[in-house]
Amino acid sequence: MKLYLLFDIDGTLVNTGGAGLRAMQGAAVECLGDGNLLEGFSFAGKTDRSIIHDLIRRAGIQNGFDDKACCMNERYIALLKPALAGAHNFLVYPYVHEVLEQFSRDNSLEPALLTGNLEQGARLKLEHAGLWSYFQWGVYGEVSENRNDLAHEALRSITAKDGPVDPRCIIIIGDTVSDIRCGQAICATTVAYSAGFEPAEKLLPAGPDHLIDDFRHLPGIIARLRACL
Ligand SMILES: [Mg+2]
Repeated sequence: MKLYLLFDIDGTLVNTGGAGLRAMQGAAVECLGDGNLLEGFSFAGKTDRSIIHDLIRRAGIQNGFDDKACCMNERYIALLKPALAGAHNFLVYPYVHEVLEQFSRDNSLEPALLTGNLEQGARLKLEHAGLWSYFQWGVYGEVSENRNDLAHEALRSITAKDGPVDPRCIIIIGDTVSDIRCGQAICATTVAYSAGFEPAEKLLPAGPDHLIDDFRHLPGIIARLRACL
């Protein structure tokens, strides 16, 4: 039986050391004329589409919403690459490389992405981390403002590709309550990672199937899940 491992990116695989924030701030200055729109604004668990639309609404823009959204998308991606190159605190979370390398040798596992990042942004971040080649496909932030829609899209893609699956064979791995909720929306298995942006005290009340603070625990969870499915 194949298991589908759907990873979030920010706070789960990598911490960009503020590169994403700086690129979004730069885009807001260029497209919306105001870099302060991001003050007190939380990115955690949100899709880039949702972040960009919220910023345009915060700027009070009524006309030309779609043009502003296009501008924000384009400028964010253009600014992200240099922001990543200059991010001294960029990090790949411990054991992510090792565990993905281990999974890549197991044909019954299909690592993929379920992320609020725009596809090009996801690619830039993961290429910078040396992780991009581990993922076979992805559902990205272009799909919706609502992360639950991304999970439904992932389920649709899997079913279209491989036929009906037990949704518990889909394992959603992420660092925020939004990741857990989107997994629950399709009855997937949820793994919360508490060493990212949201602490265990915040994640546990959302009822993840598993909580880890170290990626070395993930292979064991997968082995136990496989045994009981
Ligand atoms: Mg995250």
